[in-house]
Amino acid sequence: MSILVVTEQRDGKVKKASYEAVRTAAKIAGEMGTTVTAVLFGADEAAAKGMGGYGAAKTLHIADDRLNLYANGAYVKAVAQAAEKEGSDVVMMPATALGKDLAPRLAVRMDGAVAPDVTDISVDGGDITAVRPVYAGKALIKVKINSAKKVFTLRPNVFSAGEAGGDEAAVEAFAPELGDEDFVTKSTGTSIASGKLDVTEAVNIVSGGRGLQGPEHWQLVEGLAEVLGAATGASRAVVDAGWRPHAEQVGQTGKTVSPNLYVALGISGAIQHLAGMSSSKCIVAVNKDKDAPIFQVADYGIVGDVFEVVPALTEELKNHIGS
Ligand SMILES: Cc1cc2nc3c(=O)[nH]c(=O)nc-3n(C[C@H](O)[C@H](O)[C@H](O)COP(=O)(O)OP(=O)(O)OC[C@H]3O[C@@H](n4cnc5c(N)ncnc54)[C@H](O)[C@@H]3O)c2cc1C
Repeated sequence: MSILVVTEQRDGKVKKASYEAVRTAAKIAGEMGTTVTAVLFGADEAAAKGMGGYGAAKTLHIADDRLNLYANGAYVKAVAQAAEKEGSDVVMMPATALGKDLAPRLAVRMDGAVAPDVTDISVDGGDITAVRPVYAGKALIKVKINSAKKVFTLRPNVFSAGEAGGDEAAVEAFAPELGDEDFVTKSTGTSIASGKLDVTEAVNIVSGGRGLQGPEHWQLVEGLAEVLGAATGASRAVVDAGWRPHAEQVGQTGKTVSPNLYVALGISGAIQHLAGMSSSKCIVAVNKDKDAPIFQVADYGIVGDVFEVVPALTEELKNHIGS
C-alpha cells in the first residue's frame, strides 16, 4: 500500500526534482499511515539507498541498460508492474518532461486518473487533495481523484527536498518483465540544446525579451546569469525571431518554471509568458515601460533601459557576490 514515487537520473545523478517528489510523498504517506517506495531506473545502488535520506523506506532499483534513457512504453509497463507488486494505489513523480509524458499513460494503464503539475498537495479526510494552476496560471483549482488508482505529477522547484538525512532506503533489485514490443519508442541519446543549465531545473533564471533588441545583446542576459549562477530563458517573441533556441522558451508554449529567482529583462509580461513563470518565488523585472504587465507580478521592478540597468546591476552584484 506504499506510495510509489518514480525518480529520474541523468548520467547516474538523481535529479533534484525527484528528491522533492520523494520528500513530499513521504509527508503524505506519514499522514496516511504508510511509507514511500521509490522506483529508480539506472544509476547505482548508492543512489538507490540515498532515497532514504529524503524519506523513502525502500527503493526498487531497475538496473536494465535498456531503461537508462526514457522509453515510454517500457517505463509505463515497468512502473505499473512495480505499483502492482507494492500494492500502490498512489503514484507520484515530478512534472518534468518525462513525468508529463509518463503520468497520463500510466493512469490509463492502471485504470486510474491523473492530477498533473500540482503545486500543493495534502491529506484531507484520509484522501489526497491537490492544487494545480489552470487557465495559464490565472486560477488555482483543488482536485480530488475519485478513482482508486491515482497519479500525481509535482511541479519542480515548488516543493522542498529538504536536507538529506535519516536512514538509507532498503534496496530491492527489480526486473520488470519487458519484451522487444515494449520498446516501440526509445531514446537513443541526449544533448544539451542550449545554455549551461536547463531552465526547468535551475534555481535562478535570467530571461530576456524583445526589449534586448537583438541576439547580439544577449551577453547582457548571460553576464547577469553568470553572476547569479542562473540559467538563461527567453520569451516566445525572441525564440520566434530566431534569437534563442526553443529549449529556452518560458511560457504557455514553452517551459513551466518555478525558480527561487526569475529576472525578466525587456519582457512585457504577456499572459502566455506569465503562465510559465508566475509561480516563481521572487520575480524581478526590468522594463522601460512603467505600465508593462510584468510589473503586476513582479516583487521588485526597475523602470529603466536594460542597456543601462543590466550592466550596472551585474557590476554591483559582482561586487557583492563575486564571480
Ligand atoms: C497561443 C500563444 C502561445 C504563446 N506562448 C508564449 C510562451 O510560451 N512564451 C512567451 O513568452 N510568449 C508566448 N506567446 C506570445 C506572447 O503573447 C507575447 O507576444 C510574447 O511573450 C512577447 O514577448 P516579449 O515580452 O519579449 O516582447 P514584447 O511584448 O514586444 O515586449 C518587449 C518589452 O520590452 C520592453 N522594452 C523595449 N526596449 C526596452 C529597453 N531598452 N529596456 C527595457 N525594456 C525595454 C518594452 O517596454 C516591452 O514591454 C504566446 C502567444 C500565443 C497567442
